[in-house]
Amino acid sequence: MKALQASTAYSFPISSPSIPPSRRTPQHRVVRAQVDPSEKSIEIMRKFSEQFARKSGTYFCVDKSVTAVVIKGLAEHKDTLGAPLCPCRHYDDKQAEAGQGFWNCPCVPMRERKECHCMLFLTPDKDFAGKEQTITLDEIRETTANL
Ligand code: SF4
Repeated sequence: MKALQASTAYSFPISSPSIPPSRRTPQHRVVRAQVDPSEKSIEIMRKFSEQFARKSGTYFCVDKSVTAVVIKGLAEHKDTLGAPLCPCRHYDDKQAEAGQGFWNCPCVPMRERKECHCMLFLTPDKDFAGKEQTITLDEIRETTANL
């Protein structure tokens, strides 16, 4: 297994030719939450993530801090934009992107091809796929406390 760096920022090349060119960027990053998301939104996105992992047959990352950071990023966008816009991308206009829906979680690449570049939902064949589909609020708090 390749080394995995626990961090709030990860970079992934996009290789899928089916993502429209206008939506591609050379790299993705899980963007650190600019403001602390509300407990309510964290809980909503935590439950959503557990339910969607079960429904899609995907698993959380072996490093739960990755899962926690993405869930907090989604929660922050839910608070600030009214929609769980993917936190791993740069947007020129977040509000417009949230309104369009393509990158609202679960995004179109995830729904169509089980591609989650944030590593929130990993198919079992992926390098960093763990064996869990659950994460507690305490795990989210603990793994992101010093980030
Ligand atoms: Fe981002 Fe899509 Fe993964 Fe949700 S499913 S975290 S929107 S890449």
